[in-house]
Amino acid sequence: MAEPLANRAALRDRMAGASVDVLVVGGGITGAGVALDAASRGFSVALVEQGDFASGTSSRSSKMIHGGFRYLQTGDVALVRESLRERYALQRNAAHLVTVMPFMIPLFLKGGVINPKLSRALGGALWSYQLAGAWRLGKRHRRLDHQAVSAHMSGLDMERIGAGYLFHDLRTDDARLTLAVLASAVGQGAAVLNYARCTGVSAFDRDGRTAHIAVGGENIEIRARVIVNATGVWAQNFLDIAGIASDRQLAPAKGTHLVVPRALTGNDIAVSLPTSDRRTISVVNEGPFAYIGSTESTDPDDINQPSITQSDVDYILSGVNRHLKRPIAPSDVTGGWAGFRPLISGGKSARSSDLSRKHSISVEAEGVVTVTGGKLTTYREMAEGTVNAICGILNRRVACRTRDLKLHGFGPGASHLSDGQRLDKRYGTKAAAITQIVTMSPPLGHSVTPLGDTLLAEVVWGLQAEMAASLADALLRRTRIALYDGRAVLANAEQIGLIVGRGVGWSPSQIALETEQLKSTLRHELGVLAHDLPTVVPCQS
Ligand SMILES: Cc1cc2nc3c(=O)[nH]c(=O)nc-3n(C[C@H](O)[C@H](O)[C@H](O)COP(=O)(O)OP(=O)(O)OC[C@H]3O[C@@H](n4cnc5c(N)ncnc54)[C@H](O)[C@@H]3O)c2cc1C
Repeated sequence: MAEPLANRAALRDRMAGASVDVLVVGGGITGAGVALDAASRGFSVALVEQGDFASGTSSRSSKMIHGGFRYLQTGDVALVRESLRERYALQRNAAHLVTVMPFMIPLFLKGGVINPKLSRALGGALWSYQLAGAWRLGKRHRRLDHQAVSAHMSGLDMERIGAGYLFHDLRTDDARLTLAVLASAVGQGAAVLNYARCTGVSAFDRDGRTAHIAVGGENIEIRARVIVNATGVWAQNFLDIAGIASDRQLAPAKGTHLVVPRALTGNDIAVSLPTSDRRTISVVNEGPFAYIGSTESTDPDDINQPSITQSDVDYILSGVNRHLKRPIAPSDVTGGWAGFRPLISGGKSARSSDLSRKHSISVEAEGVVTVTGGKLTTYREMAEGTVNAICGILNRRVACRTRDLKLHGFGPGASHLSDGQRLDKRYGTKAAAITQIVTMSPPLGHSVTPLGDTLLAEVVWGLQAEMAASLADALLRRTRIALYDGRAVLANAEQIGLIVGRGVGWSPSQIALETEQLKSTLRHELGVLAHDLPTVVPCQS
């Protein structure tokens, strides 16, 4: 069966001049979820994304599918319950894309002893988490002694740590989850297109609006009965484009993660550590890497071009180094990413951690619905609410079908590669296709960088079957190697471009063009990390 996202030209042709029930603007997880929900209820659906799919916030998260244990501190039990319900839905419907993530919270000593009140409070909160729905994972939290904490993170300076707690959440690859939801939407009849920017929307007339879409130097029109504004931190920009007045208050909050070789942190599970400004940062194990983050600031920055700054690096390294036996140096950092949370502003607090993680769905004007805020974890529920609102507008009641709808690639994966399990967890039933690429062309079985485990064949698959429009798309969002090991990818861009380009049949001039574009994109994404590049051993060709 043809891959849903393999034929971009056909999807583009279906869109030009189309008339649909629902046009979704924004190809992050929120828009993808709405497209899938609406298409599965039988509505005709088109989705347009101005850049690559998930190129906004949905490839820049902490990648946790979580109930939000820390929201219990703010008493937001309803949000925790909702998130845990959705975590369970992903456990059922996307088992090929999520992994159990054991999470450790160390208990620190004060005057040589653990504060018993604090320990009891944490234990009690974990019971509340369990009862709010975490039990559905079939794993109980437990207390760890000093030795067990040290065994789970050998790099920790244990002098100030007495014991710890262990509980469980899930994690995913955010961009690949978004892609799987989009592929599922296409499987249900939707048309989706990246590099298609909505530049204008007509006033409502008769039975809908006309959206103007810029695609590769051309302009197409799509007529829609309802337009869904799922543009994340760009929600207000979209309303401006559409000429709709709104009193919406979004407060984009920047969050940055850094990646280091896991050998430096020595953690085999995710670990939460306190910072000196009374926040926490997480150190998450991911194959040969550990990612650490995030920062959280409302400093004005360009939401169109998130980039890693020196103050991001200083904040994260000082936050983690105060807990490590051997401090991590800036030159140890292999990669990272920065993004903006689409938080909804509610009050006067200056701390973005106090802003709401809840979502909002509102009918802005005739034929336009905005869905903003929320989390990766709760995308399905946000979509259900949005499409319920659309049902009301179109006066066509159809029950939601996504609660038990399996996502694209669900099923037992098959791969004979030594890292078959990793491929199964990223590609599900499609893992065999990667193996096949390697069988046909053995050099593509090498990893993209010496430290990473991403194969060159995965990059080729992203370009051939997953609508990656460039080498940069395939390295940043179909695989994640340009984030995790970004400095090595940048240092070795020419050779990676050459091998992948040959694999997909590019001409020498296209290889040169793609490589230059990759380098310039990565220089921006990595920000200060791109200043000094390591010398890397080239991948074999
Ligand atoms: C640092 C950080 C950590 C996070 N960690 C977690 C976590 O661990 N777990 C969790 O559940 N959530 C987490 N989140 C939250 C989660 O990532 C976001 O809530 C979610 O990704 C938002 O998705 P979205 O689709 O609404 O926005 P986006 O992904 O930004 O999608 C909006 C899209 O609209 C497109 N667009 C804008 N204007 C137009 C236009 N005119 N035409 C066409 N397209 C347009 C943009 O290009 C963009 O791709 C985190 C967020 C951040 C920043």
